[in-house]
Amino acid sequence: MVNFLIFGPPGSGKGTQSVRLAEKFNLMHLSTGDMLRAEIAAGTDLGKRMSSIMSKGELVPDEVVIEMIAAKIDGTKGKAGFLFDGFPRTVAQTEELEKMLNKREMKIDSMLVLDVDHNELVKRLMLRAEQSGRPDDKDPAVVENRIDVYKAKTEPIIDYCRKRGIYQPVNGMGTIDDIFGRLSKLMKKYL
Ligand code: ADP
Repeated sequence: MVNFLIFGPPGSGKGTQSVRLAEKFNLMHLSTGDMLRAEIAAGTDLGKRMSSIMSKGELVPDEVVIEMIAAKIDGTKGKAGFLFDGFPRTVAQTEELEKMLNKREMKIDSMLVLDVDHNELVKRLMLRAEQSGRPDDKDPAVVENRIDVYKAKTEPIIDYCRKRGIYQPVNGMGTIDDIFGRLSKLMKKYL
């Protein structure tokens, strides 16, 4: 199996691109944001506990997302690999993911990082707020906080992956099709 991380700040287009890439390359798309929102929508205890954290734009505890991912890794059959979207978000989550994969004779093969200007991110998130109904997109202060949290806690993963030789920056500006083309070209080399 070939395993990819798709990376980038909120609004960089990870989710949109992941859905298309997963379909094109027969990958299992795992988005912890989607999984958490599904818990909230289902009204579970976990969802109730996580929703106030998410509505502030803070990260939920590492153990919560690690457990969700572990369950999915073992339950997946018939796929060419995994596409991790919005996970890992801390260096601790990255170390855990590596351990989980190594135990199963797999690794993180490539980290694709979407680079997008700050102004463009804010613009896209404002637009998405009108369409998606996601409460964490609606409040500009929460949007800014999510970008700050990304810089403080998530961006350090880039250095971690750079040292492992798996970091690949991708221009995340342009049309959805342009960006899809760039990502596909890089991913094809592994599949
Ligand atoms: P975006 O990348 O647009 O901010 P996501 O759907 O990936 O959106 O995540 C939404 C929220 O869910 C985050 O702001 C955070 O509160 C929570 N979340 C998602 N994934 C993780 C994770 N791996 N670790 C901690 N919190 C997470």
